[in-house]
Amino acid sequence: MSTIATMQRAETVIAHEMAHAIGPHIVGSLQTDPTPETVGMDQPSWVVEGFARWIDHMTRPGSADQGAAYVRRNRARYRPTDGIVPKNTGFYSDDPARTSFNYEIGAAFFYAAEKTSNRQKATDLYIALSGIPELTSLDRMFLDGNIRGVGIEPDRFWTTYKKLVT
Ligand SMILES: [Zn+2]
Repeated sequence: MSTIATMQRAETVIAHEMAHAIGPHIVGSLQTDPTPETVGMDQPSWVVEGFARWIDHMTRPGSADQGAAYVRRNRARYRPTDGIVPKNTGFYSDDPARTSFNYEIGAAFFYAAEKTSNRQKATDLYIALSGIPELTSLDRMFLDGNIRGVGIEPDRFWTTYKKLVT
């Protein structure tokens, strides 16, 4: 906590950590439920951190747009090379700018859902995606199924998402 210099920063950190604390209770968490059927089925880090970042953006007006701008500025250097979203391996990078990029591209996903529809649908999408294994979450067809499943039209979603991150 000694690194938190301002009240604004404290509020943001608390919102982020509260999102992590509440998140597992609104879904059946895979990570905290190490039954034999779920071993090796890691939750997607981009979903977990992206959702929490999207929540902590809400503590400051304009913050979500700044996060998306960060993705656009750093896209050439840090964009996922073999998919739409970052994999768990290397998600928490030694390069803090890369880690920030990974958080923000995840947040942009939920922000796109909010902008295309609303916050409830974006949260429904988190509930759906945090219940699937990491590898599945990297698949565009599967993402489309989940986006459609919460009542958002995938083409509209991806148009909004691409505008935010490219
Ligand atoms: Zn976090």
